[in-house]
Amino acid sequence: MDPSVLEQGGVQRRLARTRALAEVGVAGLRTLLGSRALVVGCGGLGHPVAAYLAGAGVGHLTLMDDDDVEETNLNRQLLFHTQDAGRPKAAVLQERVRALQPHVAVAAMEMRLTERNARGIVGAHRVVVDCTDDPATKFILQDTALRCAVPLVHGGAVRWGGQVTVIPAGGRPCLRCLFDEPPPAERCQDAGVLGAACGAVGAVMAAEAVKVLLGVGQPLTARLLTLDLLAGTTRVQPLYARQGCPHCAAAATPARR
Ligand SMILES: [Zn+2]
Repeated sequence: MDPSVLEQGGVQRRLARTRALAEVGVAGLRTLLGSRALVVGCGGLGHPVAAYLAGAGVGHLTLMDDDDVEETNLNRQLLFHTQDAGRPKAAVLQERVRALQPHVAVAAMEMRLTERNARGIVGAHRVVVDCTDDPATKFILQDTALRCAVPLVHGGAVRWGGQVTVIPAGGRPCLRCLFDEPPPAERCQDAGVLGAACGAVGAVMAAEAVKVLLGVGQPLTARLLTLDLLAGTTRVQPLYARQGCPHCAAAATPARR
């Protein structure tokens, strides 16, 4: 989007609370309005991420998901309505985000991210937010983001909590430093998930994406934030690059913050 859209009175008013932040201001809003963010997964994490990024002023969002809305989604996917069941998630979320923030350019891609299509899609964005629940897709996404030098906000939610980390454009450390191969999926349909856990994790992911786009604050790079809403605790642990990692082996020392 052309950042000059900020001159329109309605957009100024809508984004006034973001603009008032000391770290944002008019210059920050122009940066956000000129930014493109890719949200992969339009479920429990994708909803808060898409809504908060649009509300923060990100000018272009691409929403990607190949699933249709089901009634079991409604405990956590807050922008879907009962009558949306059976409709494509990406298209419905696009419609809702447009209704919230009509000035944002929102694209919907009703498809799955694969090895074949990932590079073209990821490379067209300034930040990628991983809102999927499938470990294999998470690995395709992070490998592609590293190849395209696009920073990635990684997150996951299950049961009463979840985790967030940011993989910078240069990697070090990355998901393959934590796991050799995608770990077995722990699916929400088996383990359960509290809607509020998705909301909490998704909100943190949205804030991380805004920080990355603006270059402000201390992103969760080389750190893993774990939220446990049942215990009422948060934990931040350092992550390190691993000797055997195909991306980060050359720099297998404690990673920079
Ligand atoms: Zn690595």
